[in-house]
Amino acid sequence: MVGEHALDAGDLICPVFIDETATERKPVGSMPGVERLPLDAVEAEADEIAGLGIPAVILFGIPGEKDETGEGAYAAGNVIEKAVRTIKRRNRDMVVITDVCLCEYTTHGHCGPIKNNTVDNDATLDIIAKTAVSYARAGADVVAPSGMMDGMVHAIRSELDFHGLKDTIIMSYAAKYASAMYGPFRDAASSGCKGFDRSTYQMDPANADEAMREVAMDLEEGADIVMVKPALSYLDIIYRVKAEFRVPVAAYSVSGEYAMIKAAAANGWIDGDRVALEALLSMKRAGADMIVTYAAKDIARLLQA
Ligand SMILES: [Zn+2]
Repeated sequence: MVGEHALDAGDLICPVFIDETATERKPVGSMPGVERLPLDAVEAEADEIAGLGIPAVILFGIPGEKDETGEGAYAAGNVIEKAVRTIKRRNRDMVVITDVCLCEYTTHGHCGPIKNNTVDNDATLDIIAKTAVSYARAGADVVAPSGMMDGMVHAIRSELDFHGLKDTIIMSYAAKYASAMYGPFRDAASSGCKGFDRSTYQMDPANADEAMREVAMDLEEGADIVMVKPALSYLDIIYRVKAEFRVPVAAYSVSGEYAMIKAAAANGWIDGDRVALEALLSMKRAGADMIVTYAAKDIARLLQA
């Protein structure tokens, strides 16, 4: 009765990887328990997630073909459009969030087309705005731009409104750090990048005030939910964002956080279930309203037990 915070399945957002090239479920080696799904497995996955009391999914697509610009992200009949329609057909109440970025769609793995050895920020805005419209039209409730491009929230909000999609919510990856903790995700989403790293557009782990400026800008541009990513090494940022802005805050507990716990537990060095629960509870305590975690299904099962 005196517990101040609690973790609930209703706080969780479950990531789902949909691989257009897959004909069966493919395990992700560096993330035990996580799989890339073929399109025809999406409906059963959504049923399972809903059955566990998890209200939301965030979708990542692996397309059949990639190109230099990433424009395949919004091509008619793209993998995410199909997945959104499939989920909404039977699980109408599930909150469907779609990641909006181009790194899964470019041959070089960067979050937008490249010019002069860096990502062309403004050319990227046009493509991600069209991509957001494609997903929202298919029925996505929330679009989540993750590329940390300057002006991305404004570009998406304008394009959505122009197409009459005024109710589509924007969850912005507002404070996304250039972290070493994303490695396993890049295996899952086939989005490892070539040539130069992402530190030109993601944040320096040394900076906290900068995160406040990034969040302020995204809110000014029309973000409804702001995200901090990664979560566990950035609890101070989650706390400060919540304290300063009092808006819905999402924490993204990233693939490296998940993999570390799984690996240590597999060695018998820690109690993986307890450590996972404690880690996620710390994010709630810091101020997160919702948490994206690869452990969502495991945690929901533990909370039911
Ligand atoms: Zn990206």
